[in-house]
Amino acid sequence: MHCVYLGLGANLNSPKEQLDNAVIALKKLPHCEFMSVSHYYASKPMGPQDQPDYINAVACIKTSLEPEQLLDLTQSIELEHGRVRKAERWGPRTLDIDTLLFDDQIINTQRLTVPHYGLNNREFVVYPLLELTPELILPSGVALKTIAKNLPLNDLQQLPL
Ligand code: ATP
Ligand code: MG
Ligand code: MG
Repeated sequence: MHCVYLGLGANLNSPKEQLDNAVIALKKLPHCEFMSVSHYYASKPMGPQDQPDYINAVACIKTSLEPEQLLDLTQSIELEHGRVRKAERWGPRTLDIDTLLFDDQIINTQRLTVPHYGLNNREFVVYPLLELTPELILPSGVALKTIAKNLPLNDLQQLPL
């Protein structure tokens, strides 16, 4: 089984509920075993600032699927949750599910870049991931802790359960 970390994010239509529903959907995925989810975190939007704050979290699953098969499934969850892909990058969305890590694989295909390119500079990814796996060493050989140490919180707030 592969060990996969997924980044979850939402800022529209009751974002907390979007994340709750994403977790429910992940628990039902075929050929996958749901392992854990971090606290939810409130974060400031990247890019366009004229949009609501985000709620983010990281989930861990085990799967026998290959990376692009899993991407098919996570993208269908996004669509089932009303995500409309717009031209504007980093615009508001009901639900985003990104593959952060897939074992220690390095993947660079048309559809997938893994580790996710935001893993080195997005506080709303690094801190929830650190909560699940404080001793993680990235495929680059760098410790996640080291990345966190140099990454400002930028108002990131852990929400009570
Ligand atoms: P960002 O990638 O900056 O977080 P985003 O998550 O809003 O932005 P999306 O619109 O969700 O971007 O995805 C755009 C494309 O990114 C998808 O069609 C997908 O093929 C590709 N992609 C590349 N690497 C990944 C990954 N690790 N996880 C999810 N999608 C990825
Ligand atoms: Mg994203
Ligand atoms: Mg995405």
